[in-house]
Amino acid sequence: MTHDIIHKTLEEVRQTNMPDYLNEVADFSWNNARALLDGFPGGKLNIAYEAIDRHVNSGKGDKVALRWIAKDGQRTDFTYRDLEQKSNQFANVLKTLGAETGDTVYSLLGRVPELYIAALGTLKAGCVFCPLFSAFGPEPIKVRMEIGKAKFLITSRKLYKRKVEGLRDELPKLEEILLVDGGEVDTGLRDLDGLMKSASPNFAVEPMAQEDKALLHFTSGTTGKPKGVVHVHEAVVAHHVTGQIALDLRPDDIYWCTADPGWVTGTSYGIIAPLTNGVTMIVDEAEFDTNRWYQTLAEEHVNVWYTAPTAIRMLMKAGSELPKAHNLSELRFMASVGEPLNPEAVIWGNEVFGMPFHDNWWQTETGGIMIANYASMDIKPGSMGKPLPGITAGIVEKFKDGVREAAKPLAIGELALKPGWPSMMRAYLNEDERYKKCFSDDWYLSGDLAMRDSDGYFWFVGRSDDVIKSAGHLIGPFEVESALMEHEAVAEVGVIGVPDETVGQIVKAFVVLKLNYQPDEELRLDLIGHARKQLGPAVAPKDIAFRKNLPKTRSGKIMRRLLKARELGLPEGDISTLESDEQ
Ligand code: ATP
Ligand code: MG
Repeated sequence: MTHDIIHKTLEEVRQTNMPDYLNEVADFSWNNARALLDGFPGGKLNIAYEAIDRHVNSGKGDKVALRWIAKDGQRTDFTYRDLEQKSNQFANVLKTLGAETGDTVYSLLGRVPELYIAALGTLKAGCVFCPLFSAFGPEPIKVRMEIGKAKFLITSRKLYKRKVEGLRDELPKLEEILLVDGGEVDTGLRDLDGLMKSASPNFAVEPMAQEDKALLHFTSGTTGKPKGVVHVHEAVVAHHVTGQIALDLRPDDIYWCTADPGWVTGTSYGIIAPLTNGVTMIVDEAEFDTNRWYQTLAEEHVNVWYTAPTAIRMLMKAGSELPKAHNLSELRFMASVGEPLNPEAVIWGNEVFGMPFHDNWWQTETGGIMIANYASMDIKPGSMGKPLPGITAGIVEKFKDGVREAAKPLAIGELALKPGWPSMMRAYLNEDERYKKCFSDDWYLSGDLAMRDSDGYFWFVGRSDDVIKSAGHLIGPFEVESALMEHEAVAEVGVIGVPDETVGQIVKAFVVLKLNYQPDEELRLDLIGHARKQLGPAVAPKDIAFRKNLPKTRSGKIMRRLLKARELGLPEGDISTLESDEQ
């Protein structure tokens, strides 16, 4: 299925950070990208210095860095100077409590200012920051803290009582627990606020070596047990420049990344890239809410908005009238990541907001955006775009003795990248074998299948685990899902392969309907008919089941492996990141 290309006008193209993609690809070098940052003598650097202190030192201390919207709607502004001083205080608190370079500091917090201050202060002190998603239960918290040898934990009283108190004996390496709302604290707990107040707002930021560890992020657990991915300080070079190139960030922008820092997007592009680029970033403490989101976009005059397909689909489900009731004229660029973005969603964006969503692709492992639709680029709805300047991406096929780049255009193969960019993972913590398996013949293998068209655009096919083989065809769930998404009744859909003696696997779709649609046999047949028309009988689903919800990770990704396990009555495997999904 192809859709009309969304063309950019010359005027639009001229105003972007990267008007000429091919020129940038030819001229780009990571050394030049690094020169955009200050660094420290001897090739050292520190992510937090580049994010905060650099701007204060160049006279931008009074600019708002973070506008925090509390659940009750109250706004609090933090300037770059505020964040500088508070992160310095936090670094001093850590040092007073005996933190050493390389110690791991975990956070278990909602999107509150202390989370952002802790992240920056931890990096300033030379410690490794690991943000945990606050909705995790005790067991996933324990496992993640064990893997990363958590020494410090920043959390709230409520989260501590509910989730951590019962685990303390099982975490002997955990030395200090700091409560953001400490007040009167019991033994073994500390009041962060009190400690911050008595800490100096001055701190000499630790100059770190390029390869010193900075961040530990756990993957989403969509395909199985989450991996602990290690990133280093040099990664900031990629965060910074990809923020400019792929998100078109400019210093006067108001930018809203809706991801939680518990997932890599919420840190790489929800803390680091916006701050190194000196923008004002919006942080909303509350969870998704259609009206609130449109209000936030309008009232905060958001220019650049980075969100995810699940949220976009929920907005679509709520209809096209709502956004029209808000003044969204300041919005300039919209991007999406985390899951394949159905062409339908890109086109909807274009109709409703007057601009398409720009899909981009990357992973916890890659640390930063790798393939993207740029502000200056014509958009082919459904495509992930083209590799970032400085990134070599390929479609590879596996052989017994290694991998080779697919020779034919449009060949489906594994999406692979040439290692060497700054934000590439340096390890899966405690899982050397799994890490080594990601590399072959000087390629990093992503585990995703994709293809490249003759214009150099990349198209996502599916995760290699999710791809369906049916009667000699290789079918990507994304293609089938996108076709069904075009039907007016469909809000969301997940597609799997169900084993079948004759054809290998048959395609089965699980469909969530839009409001005002009732699941019945007539609609089921209509959907099958629609898919057949779009995809042909070999690829269209043979079976469709209606669901109220689909199982998703807490970061909003459809867990097709769970749809499959449940369909086949197989064990569900690791479900530590599963969002509750009562049917
Ligand atoms: P796990 O590795 O634990 O199974 P995960 O792969 O979902 O979890 P992340 O690193 O958060 O963990 O997600 C990266 C994956 O998300 C990619 O490998 C890809 O499958 C999917 N993804 C991200 N962006 C896109 C996109 N634009 N289009 C299609 N898929 C995407
Ligand atoms: Mg993954």
